[in-house]
Amino acid sequence: MRFYVPTDIYVEKDCVKSHAPNLLAVGKRAFIMTGRTSAKKNGSLNDVTEVLDAGHVPYQVFDQVEENPSTDTVGNAAKQAREFGVDYIIGIGGGSAIDAAKAVALLLANPNVLADNLHKAPEKPLDHAPVVAVPTTCGTGSEATPVAIITNHKIHLKKSIPHRIFPALALVDGKYLASAKKALIINTAVDALAHMVESILNVYSNAFNRMCPEYGLKLWSEFKDALLSDSPVDGSLYEKLMLTSTIAGMSIAHTSTSVPHGMSYDLTLHQGVPHGPAVGYFLAAYVEVCEKKVPEDVKRILELLGLKGTADFAAMLERLIGKCKVTRKMRDQFAASMKANRSKLDLVPGGITPEEVDFIYEKSLITE
Ligand code: NAP
Ligand code: FE
Repeated sequence: MRFYVPTDIYVEKDCVKSHAPNLLAVGKRAFIMTGRTSAKKNGSLNDVTEVLDAGHVPYQVFDQVEENPSTDTVGNAAKQAREFGVDYIIGIGGGSAIDAAKAVALLLANPNVLADNLHKAPEKPLDHAPVVAVPTTCGTGSEATPVAIITNHKIHLKKSIPHRIFPALALVDGKYLASAKKALIINTAVDALAHMVESILNVYSNAFNRMCPEYGLKLWSEFKDALLSDSPVDGSLYEKLMLTSTIAGMSIAHTSTSVPHGMSYDLTLHQGVPHGPAVGYFLAAYVEVCEKKVPEDVKRILELLGLKGTADFAAMLERLIGKCKVTRKMRDQFAASMKANRSKLDLVPGGITPEEVDFIYEKSLITE
C-alpha cells in the first residue's frame, strides 16, 4: 500500500498572501492561467499578482481558459508561455483553469509534443514545468491530483491525458467561493462527492488510501443540509467545502475515478452538461449496482453521509441536480461507447456486466 500526494498543500484563509514565500520559490517567471472573468471577480487573481509584484516576479496572464478546456486553448497558451520565457505555471480557477495549467506545464517542458497529441500515451513519463494551483470551486480537487482532463474537439474526445502532473504547490482559500452562485457550489460539491464514492467503490481502494474519502464523506455530511436548503450557503462553510474538495482530490489521486465519471464525459461533450451534474446523474445507479458487489462499502458510504439507504441517496441527488433528458438514440450511443471503456469498467469491484451498464443509463437518464 502506498500513499502519495507530493503537492505542498495549504488550506487556510488568506493563504496566498501568508504563503507568499512558497509561491515565489516555485520559479522566476510565471504564466498565470484563468477563466475569462471569475478570477478577477473573486479576488484570487489579484491576491496572486500582488505577491508576484512584491517579489519582482515577471508574469503574463492568459484569461481565455474555457469550461472543459480544449487542446486548441492549451496549445495557444503554451505558445504564449514559451514566447514569454516562463519557468512555471499558475492555474487559478475551477478544474478547467487548473487542468489547462497542467497541460501547458507539460507542453512547455516538451516542445516536440503537439497539443493535439496530448492524449497519446508517451513511451516514457515526460517532465513538466512546476504548477501552482489556486482553486476557486469546491469540486474537482485538481490541486491534489495528477490528472488533467482535456477536450480534443477534432476527435470528439473529452478524457484525462496520460501524463501525471501533480502541482508543486496548492493554495486553497474558501473565501473565493463568496462570488459563486449556489448552483455552482452544488454542482462542484456533487463532483467532490462522486470522487469520494468512486474512490471507495473501486478496485484500488485500500485501508490506507480510504482515510481520505472516509473523512471527506463525513465532512460532506456536515454541509449536506446547507446544500439542500433553499437559502444561500453560509460563508462559515466555505473552508469546509474547499477542504472536502481537496480531500476528495487526494482520494482519486490514489484510485482514479470510475464508471460515473467515464459516463459523464459524453454528456458534457455532446449535451453541454456541466461536469458536476454530468457525473452526479449516474452516481446513485452506480451505487445501487455496487451494493450487490460490495454491500459493506455501500453501507459505510451511506452511514458516513447520514443516509438510510440507496433510495435516500438517489433522492438527495435528484433534489440537488434534478434529472437529465437525452434522446434514446444518444443514450444508446453513449452506452455503446461506455461498454468499450475498459479503463473505467475494470475499476469496478467484482466487475460490471454490459447489462449493468445499460441499467445505469436507463435509471439515470430520462429518454424522450
Ligand atoms: P470550471 O469549468 O473550472 O468553472 C465553471 C464556471 O465557474 C466557469 O464559468 C468559471 O468562470 C466559474 N467560476 C469558477 N470559480 C468561480 C467562483 N469562485 N465564483 C464564481 N464563478 C466561478 O468548473 P469545475 O467544475 O471546477 O471544473 C470542471 C473541469 O474540471 C472539467 O473539465 C472536469 O472534467 C475537470 N475535472 C478535473 C479533475 C482533475 O482531477 N483534474 C477532476 C474532476 C473534474 P470563469 O470561466 O470566468 O473562470
Ligand atoms: Fe470530477
